[in-house]
Amino acid sequence: MEINRLLQKGIDLIKDRPYTNPSLEATLLLSRLLKVDKIYIYTHGKEKVSEPVVEKFLELIEKRAKGYPIQYIINEKEFMGLDFYVEEGVLIPRSDTEILVDYVLGYIDNKYKNKSINLLDLGFGSGAIALSVAYYRSSVTVYGVDMYDAPIRVAEINKERFKLTNVHLFKGDLFQGIKDVKEKFHIIASNPPYIPSDDIDKLQDEIKYYEPREALDGGSDGLNFYRRIIPESKKYLTDEGLLIFEIGYDQGQSVKNMLLVEGFVNVNILKDLQGLDRVVLGVFKKE
Ligand code: GLN
Repeated sequence: MEINRLLQKGIDLIKDRPYTNPSLEATLLLSRLLKVDKIYIYTHGKEKVSEPVVEKFLELIEKRAKGYPIQYIINEKEFMGLDFYVEEGVLIPRSDTEILVDYVLGYIDNKYKNKSINLLDLGFGSGAIALSVAYYRSSVTVYGVDMYDAPIRVAEINKERFKLTNVHLFKGDLFQGIKDVKEKFHIIASNPPYIPSDDIDKLQDEIKYYEPREALDGGSDGLNFYRRIIPESKKYLTDEGLLIFEIGYDQGQSVKNMLLVEGFVNVNILKDLQGLDRVVLGVFKKE
């Protein structure tokens, strides 16, 4: 079958789904299978595609038509300009999380320019936060903790992919995971699960059927992890250390209050590109 016809067939199979960009996704899938770039697909429409590739392409398109995330099919998601390897079992990095990383990079430059400092990422998943900070700021030693096997495996793959030597990944339940690390942290960052349990069923198919529930479910009000991390973090932060979280759009005030109650200063909420609360941060001040 010719590239043009196969591509059109693929587009038709996914064009009625919400949350797809049919032509972009079909082109992406076909270009991956043919190991060519997307331009090639557009400029070689008359070229014939072998039968096995046709079958594989249609199989993947069918999968996508059922809502299976494109990023898990192509095993890739771009975050902070880096191509992260992703697979089922880790949350697909969201561009919203770049707000947090951007802030952290700026904060490092302002306060700790070229100084050796430590950052801890709690629940690193694919490694989006931990590895992008480590990649862009080599003066930072990054520690990461995650409870599950898939994130550990995937983040190690990404660490290798980006050739990072300033990253240490541990398995464990939040601070348990770094019990053997003696360092304190100048920055603790986390994008914990924060969706209220009962809201998970209301999420789009792409998320609720295929992304790991343990990366989404933040307990009955979605705030369980903030409740655990905030008081505990004070034992691990340096004086004037920064604690920074991604949050759900309606959790800003609650998390801000938790930080204030625990004595954090300079508590602030950052908005995402849609103007919604997305990040909360505070600075730990030793009494
Ligand atoms: N931002 C994710 C979503 O919209 C949730 C991520 C999380 O719970 N940390 O599904």
